[in-house]
Amino acid sequence: MRTHEEYLVQKIDSLNKAGFTIIDHHAHLKGGLTMDELLAHSDSTGIRYCIAVNCGLGFNVQNDSALSAYYHSMKHYPVYIAMQAEGREWLDMFSPDSIALFDYVFTDALTWFDQEGRRTRLWIDNEVFIDDENVFMDYYVDQIVTIITNEPVDIFVNPTFLPREIREKYDDLWTEERMMRVIQALTKSEMALEINAGTRIPSPRFIKLAKKHGVRFTLGTNNGNAELGYLEYGLEMINECNLKPTDFWNIED
Ligand SMILES: [Zn+2]
Repeated sequence: MRTHEEYLVQKIDSLNKAGFTIIDHHAHLKGGLTMDELLAHSDSTGIRYCIAVNCGLGFNVQNDSALSAYYHSMKHYPVYIAMQAEGREWLDMFSPDSIALFDYVFTDALTWFDQEGRRTRLWIDNEVFIDDENVFMDYYVDQIVTIITNEPVDIFVNPTFLPREIREKYDDLWTEERMMRVIQALTKSEMALEINAGTRIPSPRFIKLAKKHGVRFTLGTNNGNAELGYLEYGLEMINECNLKPTDFWNIED
């Protein structure tokens, strides 16, 4: 009998043969994961990889020289190399020349200043203050739209992520109106949307609506440890949302 992993590898193989290029656009060398291990995983799964480095206030890479050094330390490997722009301060921390070394740039909307001016990181429970869920959601969507509209990046990642406190209300809080505000910002900025395997977002409802309006997708894991996995949620969404190779963002475009 096939194991679940064998089933997934076969699924990836059949998608690659059907015209998809299965790429994990959002992997990190974290949790002790080495480049050799990543390349071996790539060989055994058929997933191509992109290594992203976190850049911004409080991260390892905080200036041009560190950014450029990272690129040069990775450029000889058969992987794409991306810059993950963190927080909002990154816009003033790196020069266009250093950024241009990378294959692409992506960001998320998990870090911003709330209505009281507090720097908020949505994945850290004690930095999140929600008095009224709907007021919070409208403000959050405003932040997402501002980021997508103003920041020169290729992919919007960790999309629609909700803080733990309200996560179980995802389907109620992500109303069609709120989804459409994000989708319209994406199409206007020609920015791709990540389907994140690590956190299983966005929902199929969001993906179907985005597809209907011409948004292009990428698959990503955002591994926080040495486990890269198999992009399982993305593979499920290709089926469930009837995604075609042309629905995916092409790194060469
Ligand atoms: Zn990441």
